[in-house]
Amino acid sequence: MTDTARIVLSRPLRQAFDYRIPDGQTVMPGQRVRVRFGRQQLVGLVIATGVTPPEGLSLRPLGPPLEDWAALPDDTRELMSWAARYYQHPLGECLFMALPPALRRGQPASLPTETGWRARPDADPDTLPPQARKQKMLLSWLKQQPDITRESTIRAEGFSLAQIRGLHQRGLIDTATPKPPTPDQAYLDSLPQLTPAQQAAYRQLPSPGAFTTTLLYGITGSGKTELYLHYLQEHLGADQQALILVPEINLTPQTVRRFRRYFGERIQVWHSALNDTERLRTWLSIRRGDPAIVIGTRSAVTLPFADIGAIVVDEEHDSSFKQGEGFRYSGRDLAVVRGQMNDCPVILGSATPSTESFHNARTGKYRLARLEERVGDARPPEMTLLDIRSRPLEGGLARPTLQAIGERIERGEQVLVFVNRRGYAPVMMCFDCGHMMDCPHCDARLTYHRRDRALRCHHCDHQRAAPATCPECDSEAFQPVGQGTERTEDILEAQFPETPVIRIDRDSTRRRGRIDQLLATVNDGTPCILVGTQMLAKGHDFPNVSLVVAVNADGGLFSVDFRAPETLIQTLLQVSGRAGRHRIPGRVLIQTCHSDHPLLQQLCEADYPDIVDHLLSEREALGLPPFRAMAILRAESRDMADSLAFLDGARQMAARDGLAIWGPLPAIIARRADRHRAQLVFVDERRSRLQHTLAQLCGALDQGDKPAGLRWQIDVDPIET
Ligand code: ADP
Ligand code: ZN
Ligand code: ZN
Repeated sequence: MTDTARIVLSRPLRQAFDYRIPDGQTVMPGQRVRVRFGRQQLVGLVIATGVTPPEGLSLRPLGPPLEDWAALPDDTRELMSWAARYYQHPLGECLFMALPPALRRGQPASLPTETGWRARPDADPDTLPPQARKQKMLLSWLKQQPDITRESTIRAEGFSLAQIRGLHQRGLIDTATPKPPTPDQAYLDSLPQLTPAQQAAYRQLPSPGAFTTTLLYGITGSGKTELYLHYLQEHLGADQQALILVPEINLTPQTVRRFRRYFGERIQVWHSALNDTERLRTWLSIRRGDPAIVIGTRSAVTLPFADIGAIVVDEEHDSSFKQGEGFRYSGRDLAVVRGQMNDCPVILGSATPSTESFHNARTGKYRLARLEERVGDARPPEMTLLDIRSRPLEGGLARPTLQAIGERIERGEQVLVFVNRRGYAPVMMCFDCGHMMDCPHCDARLTYHRRDRALRCHHCDHQRAAPATCPECDSEAFQPVGQGTERTEDILEAQFPETPVIRIDRDSTRRRGRIDQLLATVNDGTPCILVGTQMLAKGHDFPNVSLVVAVNADGGLFSVDFRAPETLIQTLLQVSGRAGRHRIPGRVLIQTCHSDHPLLQQLCEADYPDIVDHLLSEREALGLPPFRAMAILRAESRDMADSLAFLDGARQMAARDGLAIWGPLPAIIARRADRHRAQLVFVDERRSRLQHTLAQLCGALDQGDKPAGLRWQIDVDPIET
């Protein structure tokens, strides 16, 4: 028998391919190899050897391997194979996703040693000209670093290569070879003592060396991050690796700095803004088994860890852990699977855990650790609903709200105003003929952005200049309606001309490093007003914020999405959590037109776990997740009829006893970028049975005919319906 290898490609194909291993060559699973595929030369990944190929097939010879070791180690391969089955996604794409882009393209799995930098002993930041402000900051920072600092560390701190080169040309810094990361005992010993409440929660955290999942429910400001640091300090072996998954926006230099203070160069970061070289470097370091502690966004869970000692998922409820397109995996859920495969404890932390995780804690699948006191004298903020139904508003803000803001500013404190929309106003409307501006490509209104006088669609790339008069009737009464962050910013600037107003949303923070600049003002404590979207809700520690205002949160109360109430409560509690985190008592004002709504009443009166129990009992009564397994088949095409007909066919193929199928129905935004979208929802009591049905359905859909231009996708455990 000839020796054979089965390989997969980085292609959306649910198929593996067999090749003959030429005499004298050996290959192993996980190895990258060159293969001829049709007329192309591609990079393949070996998934098995010694397989029996289908009879009568003459196999092509395998090309040469790209390295003499397995790029993907067994456990990472096992994890990605599990994910491919669970999420019904082609194995090749899943496995290749666990490789950095350079290796997917077939580049060598090696890099020259990374440059390190250190300040010259005699270098004085004050000799730099005033216009070299960032270089000056960099030099001062480098002078505080104990030793040689890796270039990637400097970049993660928010400095650029140009600034490094600038200082080098001026002869103020030297290049040096960085040493491999080692834990720094001196730093670790300076960790603050845990408070009694933290100690009690700490005792409930899992012991090392075995798989368990612990949900750490700790209210905002209770010191969860401090617990993670202590946990890693105490339990992580000097040679071991660890993973800390965080939502994208939390990966600010501030967070990284906090970890780096204790673990120094052992900290490595992983996120979407890294370039290909940075990714390859970090990936190789992990693969080599450097004792790294990786702080990363969702895809960090796929890194080829050699010996992982602990996994933490911070803000585990955050929707950014779930990939929104293509391979729609949940980084959080894969983290738990990874913990199980690697026999390592997993901690899921949040002030507002997801209903799924709470349910798992209630049913004993996860352990629950609770931390319900804030650190020091800080108390949870007092929440008040302000009914605005019959109150005059100024740009969306009620009189009492403006008064409350004024009082806080007067006292030298800071205020955070949460608006759930960016732009100036979500709609432009004619007050004569009623015409509203829609996106020509989507079933959505155009948002007015006043800073650049543009109308933009937030669902596709469309934008146009804002017309001065109504395009239908030429009336001049053509005006913005509703609230966006820009409008709130304008109102507040007009009302409080002496006070800086800082807007934080996707538009104001587009440039790398910009969010840090903006937050620097907030962090230095001067009285100011922060205006922003959910970007402000996540993880930030603003010591001086004493009042949080939520301007228009009512949308989530009446949405058709069954997750909307959960998301609304989480967002409001997270933004509220920015108030009163230190000495100053905090207050939260929620403007609403529905102050008698039970959910808002609960928010003010009940504990989060009680609210979740209530949400869970509703889900159970309705037969929704987490009590049932759910998946969505999404289809989109140039014509709604095609999308619906395709899904109707799928519905017939999948139908069987015990499976509930809802739809096909057009998606909430039925047309997006000229694609007509529809969906079919599957709900089953038994997950394994649903998996089986989906696998068969995918196979059949792959084989079957479909209208030209139609695309479909399976979304397992969807978070948007
Ligand atoms: P969380 O992650 O739960 O929001 P953090 O860990 O950010 O909370 O802690 C909130 C604040 O309290 C931070 O400023 C942190 O430095 C401080 N803090 C946490 N634990 C302690 C402690 N044991 N002693 C002193 N300060 C602490
Ligand atoms: Zn008009
Ligand atoms: Zn659009």
